[in-house]
Amino acid sequence: MKEIHNYINGKFIPPALDNWIDNYKPSTGEVYGRIPNSTTEDIELAYTAAKNAYPDWSNTTLQQRSEILSRIATLINEKTDELALAESIDNGKPLSLAKSVDIPRGASNFQFFAHAITQFASEAHESSGLDAINFTLRQPIGVVGCISPWNLPLYLFTWKIAPALAAGNTVVAKPSEITPMTAFLFGEICTSAGLPKGVLNIVHGLGTSAGEAIIQHPDIKAISFTGGTKTGAHIAKIAAPTFKKLSLELGGKNPNLIFADCDYDKMLNTTLRSSFANQGQICLCGSRIFIERSIYDQFKSDFVEKTKALKIGDPLAPETNLGALVSKPHLEKVKSYIDKAKEEGGTILCGGEYVTVEGHENGYYLQPTIIEVNSTQCSVMQEEIFGPVVTITPFDNDEQALSMANDVRYGLSSTIWTNNLNRSMYLAKHIHAGIVWINTWMMRDLRTPFGGIKNSGVGREGGFEALRFFTEPKNVCIQY
Ligand code: NAD
Repeated sequence: MKEIHNYINGKFIPPALDNWIDNYKPSTGEVYGRIPNSTTEDIELAYTAAKNAYPDWSNTTLQQRSEILSRIATLINEKTDELALAESIDNGKPLSLAKSVDIPRGASNFQFFAHAITQFASEAHESSGLDAINFTLRQPIGVVGCISPWNLPLYLFTWKIAPALAAGNTVVAKPSEITPMTAFLFGEICTSAGLPKGVLNIVHGLGTSAGEAIIQHPDIKAISFTGGTKTGAHIAKIAAPTFKKLSLELGGKNPNLIFADCDYDKMLNTTLRSSFANQGQICLCGSRIFIERSIYDQFKSDFVEKTKALKIGDPLAPETNLGALVSKPHLEKVKSYIDKAKEEGGTILCGGEYVTVEGHENGYYLQPTIIEVNSTQCSVMQEEIFGPVVTITPFDNDEQALSMANDVRYGLSSTIWTNNLNRSMYLAKHIHAGIVWINTWMMRDLRTPFGGIKNSGVGREGGFEALRFFTEPKNVCIQY
């Protein structure tokens, strides 16, 4: 049994009220450890440690801060194998994916913000005719809260913490209770890298207890949250009366628009990834696929063939393409959408069933599933499923494709496959999404703004956007 403790003031400690939650291994369905279910008492301890660490940390030189963040990045890289194994066991994702994507990206998040903070600058405005100059201070906020989801555990945890620390804040952070392991291991890395005690505090527990205690804390003045849209709305409601700064990165239902003039093979291989990578549990996965009618039949048959060839199995096996879904309730939720699609007139082209993996009979496995639907007004087209389930639908012209793509309450990312420059420019301008990929998917430059519109969230992460979020601008006007 692996027992996880909170990381508060540089020490690993059990929860104040001796409350615990089971930690499950999705590949086998077994309980393999327990984690604190932290309560207000633990959050208060974490807050106090962060508050005490703030004066010194916010006064470190940029070079000192940058060096510590860089050391954290180096240590994540050095521990790639250990962290990737822990991530794969905790989350059910293929080990190969954790090794090639999740953990390297955790390191890059820290390396990136170690550099970015040395380049961050503020503005000055000369007021002509008034003999005055204004300049803007960008000061850290104080103690901030970072709350992350289970799908890319270390990747998204570090994506918030790195800019928060780089900007000079101290942090109370909570990973998902479903995937706490790499956040736990990350505490040790911070200590080894020389991060002063109390600068980062990691508390574990349920959203409704530990998470909500962070949101409700009157002196935690900013919250960076990534998770579901429903949770985001709830958090916004609680946070509003305390005037906290909020960054909300929420759900998606991302469209893929595929035109006949695209590079077909590149599109097909990338679409397979954008549909089923991480068992479809990436907020950027393209779960609604629209295809120009002239290539629809060809695409349908090639896509189904490639999907059927994907190997579902033990996340630790090198040949595995799809591992286990993250939890039993999530597996059942995803499956219920497939059943609903059938009731609503969708045609299951492949997949749709649970999978029993030899030696892992109680694991949470599901076949990658393609559903053909002809209306945007069905549950599988309107609601985020967040699993290995995509829809395919033909379209006849650009306007129809655009209108179907936009006919949803989400607006996180979108992918367009075409070699027609005018079309891609027109669609990029009119599509409802915070991120548009043209002839690629999930290609990330960490300097760019990241986030969604509509029900996909409020605010942007990434690059200077994140550093702006984690600082308060203060204008100073001097007349001379
Ligand atoms: P979730 O909303 O259930 O939980 C996310 C985090 O919030 C967890 O740490 C959870 O413990 C915590 N939480 C839950 N209720 C809370 C409350 N009342 N107060 C404070 N904290 C609370 O989401 P999830 O199921 O972990 O993650 C999946 C969702 O995350 C999907 O909707 C997915 O699209 C979204 N997501 C979005 C992005 C993005 O960048 N937009 C990235 C990854 C995942």
